[in-house]
Amino acid sequence: MAYVRPVSSALACAVVSLVLAGSGGGAAETAPSLSPAIAKVAEKLRDEALAGTKAYEIVRSLTFEVGPRSAGSAGDPRAVDWAAKKLAALGFQNVRAEPVEVPHWERGRNAGTILSPWPQTVALTALGGSAASPAGGVEAEVLGVANLEELKKLDPAQAKGKILFVSNHMEKKPDGSGYGAAVGVRGVGAAEAAKKGAVGLLIRSVGTDSNRLPHTGAMRMTEGEATVPAASLSAPDSDLLEGELASGQAVRFRLELETKRFPNAPSANVIGEIPGRDAGTPKEEFIVLGAHLDSWDLGTGAIDDGAGCGIVIETARRIGQLPPAERPRRTIRVVLFANEEFGLSGAKAYAEAHAAELSRHVAAAEADFGSGKVYRIKTRINPAALPAFGPIAEIAKPLGVEFSTANDSGGGADLSPMVPGHVPVIAFDQDGSTYFDIHHSANDTIDKIDPKDLDQVVAAWTGVIYAVAAGDLELRPAPAPPERE
Ligand code: ZN
Ligand code: ZN
Repeated sequence: MAYVRPVSSALACAVVSLVLAGSGGGAAETAPSLSPAIAKVAEKLRDEALAGTKAYEIVRSLTFEVGPRSAGSAGDPRAVDWAAKKLAALGFQNVRAEPVEVPHWERGRNAGTILSPWPQTVALTALGGSAASPAGGVEAEVLGVANLEELKKLDPAQAKGKILFVSNHMEKKPDGSGYGAAVGVRGVGAAEAAKKGAVGLLIRSVGTDSNRLPHTGAMRMTEGEATVPAASLSAPDSDLLEGELASGQAVRFRLELETKRFPNAPSANVIGEIPGRDAGTPKEEFIVLGAHLDSWDLGTGAIDDGAGCGIVIETARRIGQLPPAERPRRTIRVVLFANEEFGLSGAKAYAEAHAAELSRHVAAAEADFGSGKVYRIKTRINPAALPAFGPIAEIAKPLGVEFSTANDSGGGADLSPMVPGHVPVIAFDQDGSTYFDIHHSANDTIDKIDPKDLDQVVAAWTGVIYAVAAGDLELRPAPAPPERE
């Protein structure tokens, strides 16, 4: 069912040279500003969405009818089937499932017990991809360290035979920027612990809540690299373990992780389009609206990333409902990516399968930050196009959305494989004040979503995406994103 639009290399070259000519500084002068006719339709779309959308209903359908859908699990093919049927039922064209191979790991039963000095059963969950413990669990003394840097500096003589516990807290911030600072140990902690001769790794959940539900998330797995069984404790259980260690007495712990790794499994990116007026001609250009279809297994994937699926599907659907005279010129392509959580399989497969037409991707936007309201639009577009993009971003201003001209948006994870193609990014930054209370935990369920918030998000997306799709503003080529450490 793989489908790639043919594009001649001559055409691709023509687009590139046109784009490069524009990057010389002339694009701002020659770019058409937002026309009154386009602005009027964009504002209508914005206001109608604010009055009520189907976004919540779409998330509800996904979380109830499919539920958990981690890569390779029984929920994965059900999600693909759900998405293809949903897009077709909502009037999308060219609906297809483009095959993607994904890893398959299952959590199994996870348990943890502090054996001494004061016995307690703790709430923990395996990190995604973790090795299993030996049958019956691994029992050892716990050695506490403050953070990943300290873990890396440990003397192997001290760490040998121990279960290491990394206790650093994630900081709560509305833009979620505490996540990047805290998540490193989840990715590489198990490999670092193995290098030191440890027999297990415990981390404080990378989350900002104070309930007893631990947060999972992928750890890095490199073929042939030694690792240890690794789990995250809920915040209160992390406090408990810290308290026992603070007593100065030896703390013994039993970690039982019955995880399993299976052979890779088939999955798919599910794609549907609202064809633009230029569809099917060599002039056809694409705007990708992306979200990921997979979720972790603990909850039902409502905020991560059911909400994103609802946002992008509903945005495109509403634009597709416009009368023919108002139809945009550019094609809007919804991509529901396979396996974001466990290695970006779908994003990589999309960039590869569509490499020949990436030069015709005029913009991409990703929704993968829950259901909070949009407060800012940020871009990573040809800097020469920024002044002309201003009036387009201003369409969302009455919704309380500011326009940042920093032009340094990283774009989302699923857009990262398109970076070498210089695909421009439009980011709708959402309030993430409570996102990491819920993210990757059993608490990720639909009751956390306020339908009115989702309507505001769709209002911002529909107005802005329509204006980009209907107009001629050239946003290409995008500069490289800022380096991350
Ligand atoms: Zn996500
Ligand atoms: Zn996630």
